[in-house]
Amino acid sequence: MNAPKIQSVRGMNDILPDEAEFWELFEDAVRIWLKRYGYRPIRLPIVEPTPLFKRAIGEVTDIVEKEMYSFVDSLNGELLTLRPEGTAGCVRAAIQHNLAAQQAQRLWYMGQMFRHERPQKGRYRQFNQVGVEALGLPGPDIDGEQILMGARLWADLGLDGISLQINTLGQADERARHRSELIAYFTRNEQALDDDSRRRLQSNPLRILDSKNPALHDLLQGAPRLIDHLGSESRAHFDGVQQVLHDAGQAFVVNPRLVRGLDYYNLTVFEWVTDRLGAQGTVCAGGRYDGLVEQLGGKPTPACGFALGVERLLALVREAGGETRGDAVEVYLVHQGSAASRFAVGIAERLRDQGINVLFHCGGGGFKAQMKKADASGAAFAVIVGDDEAAAGEVTVKPLRSAHEQSTTQQRVAADSVGEAIRSYLLDLDRDEC
Ligand code: ATP
Ligand code: MG
Repeated sequence: MNAPKIQSVRGMNDILPDEAEFWELFEDAVRIWLKRYGYRPIRLPIVEPTPLFKRAIGEVTDIVEKEMYSFVDSLNGELLTLRPEGTAGCVRAAIQHNLAAQQAQRLWYMGQMFRHERPQKGRYRQFNQVGVEALGLPGPDIDGEQILMGARLWADLGLDGISLQINTLGQADERARHRSELIAYFTRNEQALDDDSRRRLQSNPLRILDSKNPALHDLLQGAPRLIDHLGSESRAHFDGVQQVLHDAGQAFVVNPRLVRGLDYYNLTVFEWVTDRLGAQGTVCAGGRYDGLVEQLGGKPTPACGFALGVERLLALVREAGGETRGDAVEVYLVHQGSAASRFAVGIAERLRDQGINVLFHCGGGGFKAQMKKADASGAAFAVIVGDDEAAAGEVTVKPLRSAHEQSTTQQRVAADSVGEAIRSYLLDLDRDEC
């Protein structure tokens, strides 16, 4: 009897090679994009002390209330959590290593996040974010630049139809005034609230505005707006951000009901949204979080950042018919006969020395069967070694891609010059394909 199979955890997906190559193309584009703006990488732990997230994200948020994977480290009793987002860990690291003390830091990271949500299209329990954080910069110029960064990445990825929503959350005192008006408004309309919202009424009424329940739509439309409670500084900051967007010709909508699901934001918040992914339409979200560094024990440091949902973005690239395939290997090395096979190992290594990617046939079999595998591999060339070639110190190079086969047939070349021959064939091939 076969042993029972073990499946992956629900909502945590394997990324198989075809898909993983697509991820690598995306990651390459992301690295180039972030360098354009002077951001530097930071690599952070996946597990952090639970109090970090409670303090940073807020006790009364979806994430902390019900989405975190937390556990007790059985060896020392410490309470730990798989990171549900990256900003808290990034700020913790910046404080711990005193990064932002001397100069502003522009940092980015990419990796898995974990939230115990109901898995559905675009919503997983393990998902990936690219996070971008700027520490130490107070002005609306950096908010504006970070928002515009999104537009450039969509263009780099060949995506359109991603629209921009922005809002301001003002400062704590402004939110406090708004909050009491909100509580009064929702209390007057308590019979219209759903259970979630009723629960939030005293603890976090601002988050009611973020409810996705369509039954609350009209009620939310009529709610008091934070934007009407802003003082002149907050208003000037928001104007400054909008000025950057106007100057760049970037269209946007001010959505007064845009609040974020994490408590650390103030002033600017924004989301990039598409209607092509169904209910999970937000591909990128972020904003300013000036209080967070101090809240986590650091010196007061203004900050802003955003996170991209990688799975959602890749779904969009796929849907838009963008490039999703990585490059196949360049050479498949076919060999038969014991002398030939030993000779072929040296050929393969020599080609790799010259920067050529080689898939070396393993497992024996005749030339015909090996050539079938060479074709299926997607390689541009088969390099073929039989005992007679090995004896002569030569190999046969056979082009496999159709565009090339018309112009060149197979050739025997000296083992010493096979690398050069492949390189010049590859140049021809590039020209043919252009
Ligand atoms: P949502 O409202 O969709 O739950 P959120 O406000 O919880 O999003 P953030 O914490 O701001 O999301 O995360 C930034 C981005 O990460 C989101 O805009 C989205 O693209 C992506 N994201 C968040 N949660 C998930 C998830 N469970 N699965 C896949 N992507 C996610
Ligand atoms: Mg969420």
